Amino acid sequence: MEIPVRNPRTGLIDHHIHAADSAAVAATAQHLRRGLAGWRAMGLAGRAAALEAFSQALAARAGEITNALATDTGRQRIAGLELDGVRGAIAGWIAATPGLLPEGWVAGRGNPAINHAPHWVPYHLVGVISPWNFPLTLSLIDAIPALLAGCAVMIKPSEVTPRFARPLADAVAAAGLSDVLAIVQGDGKTGQALVDAVDCVCFTGSVATGRKVAVAAAQRLIPAFLELGGKDPLIVLEGADLDAAVTAALRGSVLATGQACQSIERIYVARRLYADFVSRLAAAAEKARLNTPDISQGEIGPIIFDRQAEILRHQIEDAVARGARIVTGGVVEDHGGLWLRPTVLVDVTHEMAVMREETFGPLLPVMVFDDVEQAIILANDSQYGLSAAVFAADTDQAAAVGRRLVAGAVSLNDAALTALFHEAPKQSFRDSGLGPSRMGLDGYTRFFRRQALIAQTGHPLPLAAFAEDA
Ligand code: NDP
Repeated sequence: MEIPVRNPRTGLIDHHIHAADSAAVAATAQHLRRGLAGWRAMGLAGRAAALEAFSQALAARAGEITNALATDTGRQRIAGLELDGVRGAIAGWIAATPGLLPEGWVAGRGNPAINHAPHWVPYHLVGVISPWNFPLTLSLIDAIPALLAGCAVMIKPSEVTPRFARPLADAVAAAGLSDVLAIVQGDGKTGQALVDAVDCVCFTGSVATGRKVAVAAAQRLIPAFLELGGKDPLIVLEGADLDAAVTAALRGSVLATGQACQSIERIYVARRLYADFVSRLAAAAEKARLNTPDISQGEIGPIIFDRQAEILRHQIEDAVARGARIVTGGVVEDHGGLWLRPTVLVDVTHEMAVMREETFGPLLPVMVFDDVEQAIILANDSQYGLSAAVFAADTDQAAAVGRRLVAGAVSLNDAALTALFHEAPKQSFRDSGLGPSRMGLDGYTRFFRRQALIAQTGHPLPLAAFAEDA
């Protein structure tokens, strides 16, 4: 099946992909499984060398990859940063993984004659299903540690942003990795077929699709590591550095046009700071420039997926209809593609969609609070629990509030730090995900099953030891 692909800067269909059907996905899976024996035989050092070659192959095609990615996403600088980030991740995992898994025999506590040792057994074929907001990063963030662990990997990128996959596949081939790493193009049906063909699935996307993937994985009794949506709150307490809070709030909300899972989507400010915060935030928001008509300037890229623009329009209209006021921004602009300037909203309440549903765009709804308890209740009033942020006079005060937030990661005196810092293991709370951390070293160890070798070094017990009259 041919799938038309829209260009986010022009709004025109200028690309098509051929969707892999379930037979094609199954054939790819079979090919990758055949490649596994050789991959495992290379050992960690051999696989690290192969991934280093992959990094070089990516660098050699940097122009092609980032150009395709820039067309997919309508933004240039972040495309370059995605590629740098992937190469950094390869180097980081190569450095971190040797000696990471505990080995060796341990004597039993109750019976020292029985010893045990772990044997780490990687999953065979890992499936990766990725969304459209950071197409390269989120296609490779799980694939790199899985490959190092000794798994083969099949990636299904989003049909919304598929152009980068061709030069990426060229780099895979040039590095000699085609027997253990494959990219299949397609839509949700291809994604379903992938879940049916793999032994472990890493899914990044919406809660609704994540639920479907979880059900399909449960039917097959394979693990699903789910990285889903968020509605991240930022709390600004009295005593916070106001300029720093405004800087972090704006970047944390509108970087990548807010199309990031860990974007700040709700802001709660102490009454004494509120008026000043809103006016400084609006002034800073108004300085942000769209990257149209010139892609090489500005901070705000287009809304990548046109259906997302409908959600943004709906949330703004719903908020205004229920009494919110737009301080700045608020209009989805049609320049061929669709853009929205950072939009500050006040007089918002938790009855409004903008405070309850994932936005995935550059909206900054700001609400006032009178005491810390109220701020914590408001921040925790959500189905999501991806991440959160707290500004306070110092780290200890921010951490004291952060510990009470229902969120897998809390940025203290900054916002959305999980986008920039991947070393701290974290899980997603509530509907924001399931499974072990993708961040930190757990991002590698989760690709192994732990086999126990249990050795009797004394004499096996006879049946008579369990006789009723023993
Ligand atoms: P979707 O859930 O719509 O799609 C994600 C991927 O799943 C796409 O490749 C999609 O294919 C595929 N897919 C669709 N249906 C199925 C199915 N039934 N079985 C298997 N795969 C399927 O998410 P979006 O692409 O819209 O991405 C935005 C979402 O991603 C937001 O909710 C965001 O918060 C979340 N996200 C989470 C992150 C995290 O780390 N927690 C990071 C980044 C984003 P296709 O697109 O071709 O239909």
